[in-house]
Parts: sequence; structure tokens; C-alpha cells
Amino acid sequence: MSDDDISQAEAGGLLTIDLAALRANFAEIAQRVAPAACAAVVKGDAYGTGLVPTASALWDAGARTFFVALLGEARTLRAALPDAEIFVLNGLFPGTQEIYREARLTPVLGSLPEIEGWRAFCAEVDELLPAALHVDTGMNRLGVSPAEAINLAEGREEIGFPLALVMSHLACADEPDHPLTAQQLEDFRAIAALFPDVRASLANSAGAMSSPAFRFDLVRPGIAVYGGRARTDVAPLRPTVRLDLRIVQVRHVHEGQTIGYGAAHTARRPSRIAILSAGYADGIPRLAGASDLRSGAEAMVAGRRCPLVGRISMDLLAVDVTDVLEDDVAAGDWATLLGDGLTLGDLAHHSQTVDYEILTSLGRRYCRRWTY
Ligand SMILES: *Cc1c(COP(=O)(O)O)cnc(C)c1O
Repeated sequence: MSDDDISQAEAGGLLTIDLAALRANFAEIAQRVAPAACAAVVKGDAYGTGLVPTASALWDAGARTFFVALLGEARTLRAALPDAEIFVLNGLFPGTQEIYREARLTPVLGSLPEIEGWRAFCAEVDELLPAALHVDTGMNRLGVSPAEAINLAEGREEIGFPLALVMSHLACADEPDHPLTAQQLEDFRAIAALFPDVRASLANSAGAMSSPAFRFDLVRPGIAVYGGRARTDVAPLRPTVRLDLRIVQVRHVHEGQTIGYGAAHTARRPSRIAILSAGYADGIPRLAGASDLRSGAEAMVAGRRCPLVGRISMDLLAVDVTDVLEDDVAAGDWATLLGDGLTLGDLAHHSQTVDYEILTSLGRRYCRRWTY
């Protein structure tokens, strides 16, 4: 746990990660998708929750296969989980093959040059090292084309190493009726059939919650494990992250005075304003702030929902606590931005973004605690 050197006393925010909720969410998804196997996607520092503590908790919940984006993440994970199967999604960067081999990591190969790079390395070290094949079915991000996949399957293009997995990624899984989703499913079915002895994987969280047809052999949920919304029409699982922010001061503001940068917010009544010790440098989006023209996110202070007022600063933000009893809020107290009914979805909505971005932006200056 790399960030727990920031003590609660000195921190502007306290980030609490509920590993029991993470385990429960994983177990719930794994049960829903059975008999397909359930992997865990832990890229982006496990969506901001801490790669090693979170992946270890998911291992305890039965996860054996993990996906990360980068080789560095994979090496960190390997040190913590010696027996896990670890896939690296972002492809094979030149000259990294030996790192994969040494740490027993599996690259997800998404282009013919990457396949050639892995084949040449296997020949050089005279070992048959497994790799995954990513086939693009319409996302146009990573992956060989379906035509290239057919050539590989039918031997016109040599592979030269064992395939651990054939996979593709859905572009619109959160919109189940999007025509691209049906087309991707159909195309991936045809491709998976060309590799009958290789495990197949298509679904992210949203796909895992769609019809069983999307599940194939292995599903790859990320956001749902973390309690975020994969689809707006499916209720999220248990929240896993709680964020409390330190109240630095409570100030009195006269009616007509403005609050914060740009004088963007005007007090409409004599107000008490709590100043909290976190801002956009801690991953709280500027769009979560408020002005005279638009309302922003809310914080929970002494059991009451209170609106953010004015712009979010780099290290501070303001909350209108006029409706909280004066005796119930003081400097040194904590206000809650996530938790006590304030959801990731609420904050993402007010910030015009997605749960993913809120989680993966969570700041590095918080005191982080993992509860078991
Ligand atoms: C990030 C990612 C996932 C997980 O997606 P969620 O929407 O978070 O479930 C699965 N597969 C690939 C290829 C990804 O990049």
C-alpha cells in the first residue's frame, strides 16, 4: 500500500476503500455469469482503488485472471499475486518481451507486427509462450481485423505460439440496442468459432449484464466490480469508495457577496460556507462546482445534503452549510463527497462525466484506508 504514508491528521481527504464490498461485488458478478469464468479488470490502479490491496481482495473472492493496461501494472500485480493469470491489454511495446517472459505475463496482441514480435521472441528463446489475440470487431481501437484473424486461424499467416485467449471489446455495450453491439456479437461469434480450442472473451461489465450470449468463456468486468454504473438501466452493485473531506473553516458570507474564483457564485441570503480541503488537484472535477447559472454537486455535512457553491479551486472547495445547525459543523470536521447516499453516479452526473473518470481521478494526496 503505497499511499498510506499520508496520515489522517494531515490529510485534506480520507479515502476509504471497502474491500468487503469489492469482494461481494465480484462474487455477485461471477455467480451471475457462470458457467463463464469471471476475470477482474484492475487497470488504472484498480480504477483508483489501489492495485495491490484490491487485486488481493479479488483473489480472495475467487478471481484468478486479471487484466491491466500496462506492463508496469502487470509487474506490480505479479509481485503480489504469484499464481494469477495476468493479461496486459495495451499490446506489446518493442523490446519488452523478456519482461513478459520473466514475470510470466501474457500480452494481448492487437496487430500483425505485435504477433510477429512475439513469434520472433518465442523462436529466439526457443519457448512456446502464450499470448492473447485481440480482434477488432468495430471499436477501431486495438486488434487485428477480422480478415487478419481468419488468415491466422486458417494458417495463411503463421502464429507460432499458443493462444491463451481470443478477445474483442464492445464499443456500445452500455446501449444494448445499439446496432453496433449486435454486429460485434455476430462477428465475434464467427471469429471465436475459428479458434475452437481457445478461450473466448467479449464482455466488459455492461456486456456481462446483457444477455448470456455475450459471455463466451470469460467475462472482463471492471466498473461494476467497483460499484460504478455499467449501464444506466442496471442498478450498480455495492459502493466501494467513500470520500470524506476536511472542513478547514466555516465562514459567514453576507447576502450579495460572492464566493471563490471568478466571483461566479453570489450568496442569495446571509450564509455559512464551509471550506473543504480538496480540489481539482485531488481529482474533483471543476464541473462539480456551481455558479449563479448552474448548480453543482452536493456534500453531506452533519447528515444533511449541502450544495457546493462557487468554482472548485486546485486545493479547496466551498459548501453552503447554512441549513446545518451552527453547533453541528465546525472547522476540523469532515464532510462527505462520496458515501452516505452520495453516489459516484451523482458526482459524475454533476461533473458531466462517467463513474470511470471520477474513480480513476481520485487524488494521490488523500489518506487512503482499506477496510476488510
Ligand atoms: C477497461 C476494459 C474492460 C473493463 O470495462 P468495464 O466497462 O469497466 O467493465 C474490459 N475489456 C477491455 C478491453 C477494457 O479495456
